[in-house]
Amino acid sequence: NFSADVVPQAPEDPLFGLMAAFRRDQDPNKVDLGIGAYRDDNAKPWVLPVVKKADDIIRNDPNLNHEYLPIAGLAEFTSASQKLILGGDSPALKDKRVTSLQTVSGTGAVHLGALFLAKFYKPNSQRTAYFSDPTWPNHFQIFSNVGLSHKTYPYFSKQTKGLDFDGFYNSIQNADEGSIVVLHACAHNPTGVDLTQDQWKKIAEVIRAKKHFPFFDTAYQGFASGDLSRDGWAIRYFVEQGFELCIAQSYAKNFGLYGERAGCFHFVTAPSSDAQSTVGRVASQLAILQRSEISNPPAYGARIASLVLNTPELFAQWEEDLRTMSGRIIEMRKALRGKLEELGTPGTWNHITDQIGMFSFTGLTEQQVMKLREDSHVYMTKNGRISMAGLNTHNIDYFAKAVDKAVR
Ligand code: PMP
Repeated sequence: NFSADVVPQAPEDPLFGLMAAFRRDQDPNKVDLGIGAYRDDNAKPWVLPVVKKADDIIRNDPNLNHEYLPIAGLAEFTSASQKLILGGDSPALKDKRVTSLQTVSGTGAVHLGALFLAKFYKPNSQRTAYFSDPTWPNHFQIFSNVGLSHKTYPYFSKQTKGLDFDGFYNSIQNADEGSIVVLHACAHNPTGVDLTQDQWKKIAEVIRAKKHFPFFDTAYQGFASGDLSRDGWAIRYFVEQGFELCIAQSYAKNFGLYGERAGCFHFVTAPSSDAQSTVGRVASQLAILQRSEISNPPAYGARIASLVLNTPELFAQWEEDLRTMSGRIIEMRKALRGKLEELGTPGTWNHITDQIGMFSFTGLTEQQVMKLREDSHVYMTKNGRISMAGLNTHNIDYFAKAVDKAVR
């Protein structure tokens, strides 16, 4: 006999708890570095000019309606998404080895992929998903919710505040054959530490040798370096190498479409004479899973992204907007490192500019993070992660001085 009073209290989501604490703080100098969304130089949300333009066009279209999309989503959106992440001349696209479904942003894409693997990828006793340590915490919840077990591979070196490449490599080498390896395509969340192209090649080699299955999570294409192909390089390399893999693609950050939930899931089958038939069967199963989960994806964000991706002039403006966002963040990295070095703040700070993307793993300890919150009203997660987007020309001096004080 079920009664809801047996349900235990769940812990609060740490990030949302942090946001609430920030809102309660009345100090005029308070700084929010927890937020996982882009902010402009005035700490305000930024609607990309190209998104505003596309939005106006769609809104004024007399034929706009609110009918359901197909189960797999808007076809012109999913095909443009394939080209964006794989590159227009991808061998996988030429061979028609890719199937794609529009999802509820990146989270929904990770979920659909995990659900598919839970259903079709090897028996339970023979499969484990590997996540970087640390990773986007939702990976743990999403994979466990569908019944996939998981472990982690070393990723971040506390000493260098860069990549623990040997730890990463050895762990993948020692994992059971045929494990699922979840990889952040670029702008690793939460560390901001990415692999070099040479390191990616070595990781690809060991993944191939161990017959592992690569699962790419790409939430920051174009947002990291400002260059879409550069940020898509790792995925394109793996596809060129003939891997069978899947990709969870988010448009939250690179289009600023956070709440519109535009995303895409891609399954790329390995090259073989039977590949087209395989991809058809995979697509048919994904459609059934999607149907039972969400029936069909939300339309509006995908319409905006699709219009931009499929219209050359808008696409060019989008690339401009991406350079604005990534450029501002890179400037903030330079400024923060410069100021800390100028203040002679104990420690080394080169990792601030070596890291890339929205987040930076500062190396600040939990104690220092709490001190920053209490003394200076600066909010960041306990692991010392800051969102670079929360820094701007008005608060960067204040923040650098606060860090200097907390570290001494
Ligand atoms: N993966 C990673 C690594 C992320 O950082 C994010 C965004 N925080 C996502 C997936 C998915 O985000 P969304 O569902 O908003 O697209």
